[in-house]
Amino acid sequence: MSTQECTVSGYSDSEYNLPLQVGGVFIIMVISIVTCLFAVVVKTTSGFKVPSIVFFVVQHFGTGIITSTAFVHLLPEAFLTLTNPCAGKFLSETFPGFPGVIIMISGLIMFGVEAWIKYCIYHSSAAELQQSDSQPSMDSLSASSNTQRTLPFSNSKDPKQDINIESSEIVTVMVLELGVVVHSVFVGLSLGTAQGPTFWSLLIAVAFHQGFEGLALGVRLANLRIKTFYQVLACLPFGFTAPLGQAIGIAARKSFSENSPTVLVTIGIINCISTGLLIYGIYVDILVHDFMNQYEEPLSKPKAICATISILLGLVCMSVLAAWA
Ligand SMILES: [Zn+2]
Repeated sequence: MSTQECTVSGYSDSEYNLPLQVGGVFIIMVISIVTCLFAVVVKTTSGFKVPSIVFFVVQHFGTGIITSTAFVHLLPEAFLTLTNPCAGKFLSETFPGFPGVIIMISGLIMFGVEAWIKYCIYHSSAAELQQSDSQPSMDSLSASSNTQRTLPFSNSKDPKQDINIESSEIVTVMVLELGVVVHSVFVGLSLGTAQGPTFWSLLIAVAFHQGFEGLALGVRLANLRIKTFYQVLACLPFGFTAPLGQAIGIAARKSFSENSPTVLVTIGIINCISTGLLIYGIYVDILVHDFMNQYEEPLSKPKAICATISILLGLVCMSVLAAWA
């Protein structure tokens, strides 16, 4: 590919509908925030009486959404951008497997970071507990000795164990949010630089894209045992990143070149990192937690079937959307 094709400049204002684009920013922002907050608000507001099965279905549907985001949205995009001829001969011809290296390292680093965070939270909280329980009563002593023999499928009664599970869940959801949010920026960016009929089809696709991911993330945040304020706060980065990407696309529309080597390498590497995070989060944390949690009873047959169908539904919906965004 010639150097000129790799540095082709953006659009002129005559081809670009600015008011429509600005309207699109607000549409995507509202959809992202509302869908992400939906589960949190429904779960914490006593006025809403949503059957628990609805949460169950949305939770597993969300697992399918995030899994497909990793494998069908981010992974191919990571390889396509880094092996684009404009990204350079080394990446496109000499070493086309380079994206795999970053994805692999990203997952491994996440494993290390998660283990380290869990270690720190566990030990700081355990120290606090030890301080507050420095003079335990006979009752608590006997309770404590009982927890040493807690059966694997019984609910944990050990505060240290609870803290460890909680911190692990928080870290998992944060990792998922990071992966999803990074992808949202680039989805927003492609919408912000779209023009003509492409804009409308992309706007609809991105609206569903953000809606599905918002639901998936929101239900995970709503399940965390943290204050509602922090759940709402955690929704905000997701709500604003796609619009941020759109705003960057709008601002840089005249100079933006999706084929420039710098853009390709930057987006490609960030996509690789997000892919590694999401694959790690789904396979190591989410699926194991939902189906093989050693501290909870295994799902009953009907529930397992319902969860599997919900996951497949999420996979299909998000995979179909990959054709557009
Ligand atoms: Zn996508």
